[in-house]
Amino acid sequence: MQPITSIAALWQEATTDPEFGFALKAQDVRVDLAAAVARSEMPKSQLAAQLGWTSDRLEKALTGSADLSLQTIFAITRALGLDFNVAITTPDATSATDGKTKEKTDASEICPACGLGHLERYIEREQVEINGQSWRIPLQFSECDACGAELTHAEQSRANVEAMKKIELKAKMHAPKQSGSDPN
Ligand SMILES: [Zn+2]
Repeated sequence: MQPITSIAALWQEATTDPEFGFALKAQDVRVDLAAAVARSEMPKSQLAAQLGWTSDRLEKALTGSADLSLQTIFAITRALGLDFNVAITTPDATSATDGKTKEKTDASEICPACGLGHLERYIEREQVEINGQSWRIPLQFSECDACGAELTHAEQSRANVEAMKKIELKAKMHAPKQSGSDPN
């Protein structure tokens, strides 16, 4: 198998490999669902009781790898007093190139370090090693055009964590099987 070395190739694979595409989608839904549970401040034991489920079943629904049914999502969101909807969209044309690329920004932010320069948002593709495989993950940060200070906003950190999780998931799917022998 060809190693995937760029994020562009990774997204390409997400759109052409249905198994990976589905795993990413399922993970996104799970993250949303787990976040909704956390925000609700309802103890998981209470939520499980309300659903008539064991805590184990709830935990598996939120963190497991099995397919999440619409019924499960409906039951959990309803128990939390929430609603959910499915948006059907056309895929993003993610223009992912390697190197440091400037992101479009609407608002100009003043640098908190020097108070003079403006922060510009960048995405840089950083190489990481997972299980001996090389991956590039897009990391977002802002840099001052005057003093050069670098900082990461909360939503940039979140995006970075999410990108990392996606790569980890991808790496897991590509990991050599533990029992089998790897020709390499
Ligand atoms: Zn500055």
